[in-house]
Amino acid sequence: MEHSKSIEAFEEAKRYIVGGVNSPVRAFNSVGGTPPFIERGDGGYLIDIDGNRYIDYVQSWGPLILGHTDERIQKAVKDAVEKGLSFGAPTETETELAKKIVSLFPNVVEKLRFVNSGTEAVMSAIRLARGFTGKDDIVKFEGNYHGHSDSLLVQAGSGATTFGKPSSSGVPQDFTNHTLLAKYNDIESVKKAFEESNNIACVIIEPIAGNMGLVPAEKSFLEELREITKENGAILIFDEVMSGFRAGLRGAIGITGVEPDLVTFGKVIGGGMPVGAFGGKGEIMDYLSPNGGVYQAGTLSGNPIAMSAGNAMLDILMENEGVYSVLENRAKRLMEGFDEVAKRHGIPLQTEYRGSMFGFFFNENRVKNFDDALKSDTKMFAKFHRGMLEQGVYLACSQFETGFISTATSDNMVEKTIDIADKVMKSIR
Ligand SMILES: *Cc1c(COP(=O)(O)O)cnc(C)c1O
Repeated sequence: MEHSKSIEAFEEAKRYIVGGVNSPVRAFNSVGGTPPFIERGDGGYLIDIDGNRYIDYVQSWGPLILGHTDERIQKAVKDAVEKGLSFGAPTETETELAKKIVSLFPNVVEKLRFVNSGTEAVMSAIRLARGFTGKDDIVKFEGNYHGHSDSLLVQAGSGATTFGKPSSSGVPQDFTNHTLLAKYNDIESVKKAFEESNNIACVIIEPIAGNMGLVPAEKSFLEELREITKENGAILIFDEVMSGFRAGLRGAIGITGVEPDLVTFGKVIGGGMPVGAFGGKGEIMDYLSPNGGVYQAGTLSGNPIAMSAGNAMLDILMENEGVYSVLENRAKRLMEGFDEVAKRHGIPLQTEYRGSMFGFFFNENRVKNFDDALKSDTKMFAKFHRGMLEQGVYLACSQFETGFISTATSDNMVEKTIDIADKVMKSIR
């Protein structure tokens, strides 16, 4: 494969944009090499500026469940553009999208607010939980990602539940003193947090974690979380920015039946445009301004182009709910294929899938939390990633990310990917 144009473009980009990228993972630092610069998407494929064609399992990190350049989404966007790009005033398009989401979560979401990213959705949901409960502390899980707002940039500490240390410079320790860490799939660590603090406003969790690789929470664990938060007067927040409309039409809520007090969305609900949302019962949501005292705002929030893309996306998904089992079957086949070829070449591999999400760890043991995930062989992953890329398969460029199947990722493309994985694993073992 030829990459000279991407190499040149990356050098040029690095001169003007920090690290050459506008989101750090895109720089390929954890796998090495130059990231392909993208010319365009085509269904289940990405095409780079050197003309290389890749089967795309990243899909803009989740949003593109219908693949690239879906005609229906593109038409909705074009029609909206004709009417103007932004008004900073209410439109019926926003209500339309809100109504669809509310209809999907009858016991959970009565009211919503739209924002421009997952980060904003989570940041605002946390402020709301604090405003509603009058409490300050929050509990988050090691290895869960909730965007890059200050109090959530706290990850792994020691094994025990401890008050978190910031995992980014520029975040004062004072900001994260209110963030308690617990261990994923470990209810004892959550109980301990509630023993340490009687000031807990909320527990936030990725109910299907996708930012430490794919690690679903056990249903019983989510049920226990629901109970503990209720008993202690704390809000339970499901961060379904990734899993919402991805793992299934109703995300983890639909799969597990566990109902949080607040839920955050992003990625798929924007159809590829920047959208985030958070919602819950009216009695909580009405604490938000202008109805209540918790301030939250956005110049471009509920932007008509983004809302139109979201409406088209949800129309398609709600009319074709059966598509999720088709996608899950492909994810299952891909992961079973990876299992088979890894076994053939004596490479330890753990695989997982939920709906259209899949993940694999170069790991001896099943991964249930962040500590387990960190035991994966990241050097092996980097070699595998590079090998797959060179053969035309575009996988997320870190061991700790999730892969995505779109409706444009055909059975044939999946089979081809397994054949390529066979060759690559043979060469790297
Ligand atoms: C992607 C993601 C976010 C952040 O969303 P952005 O749109 O990147 O700000 C938050 N939570 C989860 C679970 C995510 O996967």
